Parts: sequence; C-alpha cells; structure tokens
Amino acid sequence: MSTANRNSDIIVIGAGIAGVSAAAELSADARVILLEMEPHPGYHASGRSAAYFAAAYGKKIIRDITGCCESFLRNPPEGFTEVDLFHPRDCLFFGREDQAGKLGEIQADNPDLQFVDAGTVCERVPVMSPDYVYGALWDRKGGDLEVDALLQGFLRQFRRRGGYFFPRHCVSSLDWTGGRWSVTAGGHAFTAPVVVNAAGAWVERVSELAGLGSLGIQPLRRTALMIDPPEGVDTRDWPEMVDADEDFYFKPDAGQIMISPADETPSEPCDAQAEELDVATGIYRFEQATGLEIRHVKHRWAGLRTFAPDRVFVTGFDPRLEGFFWLAGQGGYGVQSSPALARLTRYLITGTEPEGDFRRVMAYRDDLAPDRLLMGSQST
Ligand SMILES: Cc1cc2nc3c(=O)[nH]c(=O)nc-3n(C[C@H](O)[C@H](O)[C@H](O)COP(=O)(O)OP(=O)(O)OC[C@H]3O[C@@H](n4cnc5c(N)ncnc54)[C@H](O)[C@@H]3O)c2cc1C
Repeated sequence: MSTANRNSDIIVIGAGIAGVSAAAELSADARVILLEMEPHPGYHASGRSAAYFAAAYGKKIIRDITGCCESFLRNPPEGFTEVDLFHPRDCLFFGREDQAGKLGEIQADNPDLQFVDAGTVCERVPVMSPDYVYGALWDRKGGDLEVDALLQGFLRQFRRRGGYFFPRHCVSSLDWTGGRWSVTAGGHAFTAPVVVNAAGAWVERVSELAGLGSLGIQPLRRTALMIDPPEGVDTRDWPEMVDADEDFYFKPDAGQIMISPADETPSEPCDAQAEELDVATGIYRFEQATGLEIRHVKHRWAGLRTFAPDRVFVTGFDPRLEGFFWLAGQGGYGVQSSPALARLTRYLITGTEPEGDFRRVMAYRDDLAPDRLLMGSQST
C-alpha cells in the first residue's frame, strides 16, 4: 500500500451497509478510503438483520425515507448486481382484541394500511389461532431484501470508482491537524479533510476518539431464531407478521420461520449473542399466537440496532468539529434506508444533488442533522 493511497478526500469508518453504501456514493465525486475493523464487511448489524423492506414501519420520516429507496431496490442501476434485490412480501400488523386500540392508532398514523378481520388473517397464515387474533393492518408495499447482494453491489461500485477498502483496520485514533483528519487504523496512518462516522454500535466510541461528547446514541440488542414450519405447511406466501405492540414478529425465510421477540436490551457495542431468555420469550409469544408447540430451534443470533434518543437517523456534519460527519442511528431500518441515506451523505459532503426518487430525501436534511441532539447538552 503506497502512502499516496492513504491520503484521500474522505475516510469512511465502518463497512456495514451504511458505510459501504455511502463510500460507494462518495467515490463518484472524491477519493475515498473505507476502514473496517473486522475481516469482512457486514459482520455486525448488517449481516444479522431480518432482511425485510418494511415500508410501513417506524415514524413517518423513517417511512418516507424508506419509500425513497423502493425504486432503487426494485430496479437497481445496470451492472449493480446480478440478482433481484427485492422480492415482494406483504406485511400484517396483527393484534388481539385488547390491542384493537393500538391497531386504530397505527392506522390513524398511516391511513394507507387496510384493516382486515381475524378470518382473513387466518386464511393468509393458517397457523394463526382464531381465538388469539382480532384483526390486522395490511401493508402491500413490503419485500424481502437480498442484503448481501446489496452490500456487495455497493462494494463493487465503490471499487470500480477507485475507492480503497481496508478490512482488519480498527480506527484507534483521530486527530484534527493542519486542516485534515489524521486517522490511525491497523497500525497505519490515513489522512483526509472529512471523516464519516458509520461505525454502527460503535459511533459514540469513534466520536470519543475525536474528542466529542455524546449524542446519546445507544445500541439495543435484538434477537432472532429459526424454526422449521409444521410438517406439510407451505409458508412461502405468508406475509411478515408483526405484533401491533411490536412484542414479537415472524416471517418465512428460505423454507423456515424466523421469529424475533423484538427485544431492545441496552448493550455496550460488542459482538452480540442471543440470550436464552430472549429466545424463550420469542418462542412463547409465537406459541401463544399460533397454538403450535416449538420443540427445536435450528439457529439463533442477535445483533445491535443503534438508535438516537428520538429514533430518527443521524446524518450530517457535527457542528462542533470541522469535517466530522455522522451517519448513525439507523435503528431497525438501516438496510432498507441505506440507498437514500448514502445519497444524502454524498449531497451534504460533495454537493452532488440526488436524482429521481432520491431527491425527496433532501427535504429531511435538517430533521436528520446531529444539531437537534445537541440542544441543551455540553459541546465538546
Ligand atoms: C435482528 C435484527 C433485525 C433487523 N431487521 C432489519 C430489517 O428487516 N430491515 C432493515 O432495514 N434493518 C434491519 N435491522 C437493522 C439493520 O441491520 C441496521 O440498521 C443496519 O445494519 C446498520 O448498519 P450500520 O452500517 O450502521 O452498522 P453495522 O452493520 O454494525 O456496521 C458498522 C461497522 O463499523 C465497524 N466499526 C466499528 N468501530 C470501528 C472502528 N473503530 N474502526 C473500524 N471499523 C469499525 C464495525 O465492525 C461494523 O462492521 C435489523 C437488525 C437486527 C439486529
């Protein structure tokens, strides 16, 4: 590696879906270096998601930004990938009778969702117990995502545009000297006038290295597990099934059923592992809703979903320090929103305006800026 390669215009820290997509976009306009502490991209949250495009999930701003990505995911640019990134799959937000009020609230917030009764839910997902379910709200815009193909597509685009990717390079220091950031990673020094903090659960650690105080961004552990469907039951056309209070959800996944207890346990940034109690909670809630008895869990895992205090993405320059850009707080929506947030990142750093549906994301630049999280807090 020559020294010239280590001096660039922009250094992106973290090769999850956020960092890789932003690096790919930015490399169309600038010399970009992407640093990742693990041996391969997507090792943490991005490789552990439910791989779903949940068009009706989250606050309106999250849904709007997710919506900006739909046409890209359905029809990626020529040469981006060989596979379909998006496979349509509806989503039902379902509830018991005591959750009827919650269903009403969700529908008031998102009038596009259509109410269906228990009979329709049980017809669509025959394992659901008619004694359990009261009704559901139907979202027809969701889809399964090919997360690895999306990540690899962005990585290829990044390399084709001249970007350099350095795996096994953990950023251990960040210093602003002489109008540039000097970054130490994997024993090497890198420099650039702009750094993008896309370190997922570690974003607060990275900002500490730069001497910045906290924005209150917090990783929350979420667990998932896989079971076999009951003998003879074809799950292929089931929708994603989300409890109205988000106490659990399940969806078909490559011939199996993925279940999550939708846990949100605060965690330090780490290689998250599934805890027995969370797995048992997921199984219990699924059994309650279906009447099925689960005897064997085929696979379990956990990942960290990282949220700002207001559960909205954090995308923008830190007003406290020159050249320090946050691409953080992707929460439970970081895969589905990555193409739009990457375009916004490019616009805010290099000035290139997004085109097509991505233009809509520009309207949210102030809502996503880190400034909102600094109100009333100390500066550096
Ligand atoms: C169980 C589960 C289900 C989910 N389901 C969905 C879903 O269906 N749809 C959806 O859109 N989202 C979903 N999510 C959320 C989604 O996975 C995240 O929002 C997204 O992956 C966050 O991407 P990221 O790039 O910010 O973080 P990460 O993928 O964690 O990437 C951050 C990277 O930064 C690196 N890093 C950290 N510190 C340093 C350092 N000092 N130096 C170098 N590198 C560093 C890490 O190694 C890591 O690779 C789910 C998450 C979980 C856990």
